[in-house]
Amino acid sequence: MSTWTLAIHGGAGTVSRTELSPAREAEYRAGLRAALEAGGAILAAGGSAEEAVIAAVRSLEDCPLFNAGRGSTFTAAGTIEMDAALMRSDSQAGAVTGVMRIRNPILAAREVMHATPHVLLAGAAADDFAGSQGLAMESPDYFRTAHRRAQLDVAQAARVVALDHDLPSRMGTVGAVARDISGALAAATSTGGMTNKPAGRVGDAPILGAGTWADRAVAVSCTGTGEAFLRCAAAHEISALIRLGGKTLVEAAEEVALRRVPEAGGKGGLIAVDAAGTPALPFGTEGMYRGVWRSGSEPETAIH
Ligand code: ASP
Repeated sequence: MSTWTLAIHGGAGTVSRTELSPAREAEYRAGLRAALEAGGAILAAGGSAEEAVIAAVRSLEDCPLFNAGRGSTFTAAGTIEMDAALMRSDSQAGAVTGVMRIRNPILAAREVMHATPHVLLAGAAADDFAGSQGLAMESPDYFRTAHRRAQLDVAQAARVVALDHDLPSRMGTVGAVARDISGALAAATSTGGMTNKPAGRVGDAPILGAGTWADRAVAVSCTGTGEAFLRCAAAHEISALIRLGGKTLVEAAEEVALRRVPEAGGKGGLIAVDAAGTPALPFGTEGMYRGVWRSGSEPETAIH
């Protein structure tokens, strides 16, 4: 079966239709479209799911509209602490958490996977590791944007730790899942986390099985209240429901996004692709920035 599938997300949250101007919507859709094209071109040329999800996430990290890489959200301390993870269906994986200087955290996750026997590196040591691998490094100012600072002021005035799409100037965590023509699956997620999170807080994105997962049955990338996704092992639970529970991909993905995550005290959405290349993109919020491109069809983006 020489078909391929790529799905991406740019975060879930309260994306009110009335507040999103046509011009703003067009900007988001262009960012999503560029990421789909970056990853889809690799899959169309026979490239791997791993390379495709990295290319898509890297494109979204470089776009300041989304909460990953440049344009990440601020912690309560006014710092930017980013998380990223990558996993393949052969169980290889790499992740970083609390990094502050790596231009593309998803590339650091790939280096952890390929260049070390480990899975997860944290903090300043992870930044140093990425630098030693020759990855592009930036000063903290590269990641900061004025609208993220404004979001922090709003969140601090309201005394909340907020999902980025629940704040003014909302934008979101990013992720990608893919099935390549060889049948391999991969998932990647990258985020600045939640606005006004305490320094040192680790969300679901870099934790395998919570915000990111891939095995032979399914690849998953999540977005939403990280603590709830951690509490119900959201991404892995989809695999369990398929492999052990006899559910279809769509049933399993909806069960987790629409029931388990709210029961665990949060909200959000996810993207998933199964071994047959079927995508699922459920969300329990007003909107989720998302896109799908399958071989033989046109790339599609959506918000609500
Ligand atoms: N899941 C991310 C976190 O909790 C936030 C998001 O998806 O926007 O760090």
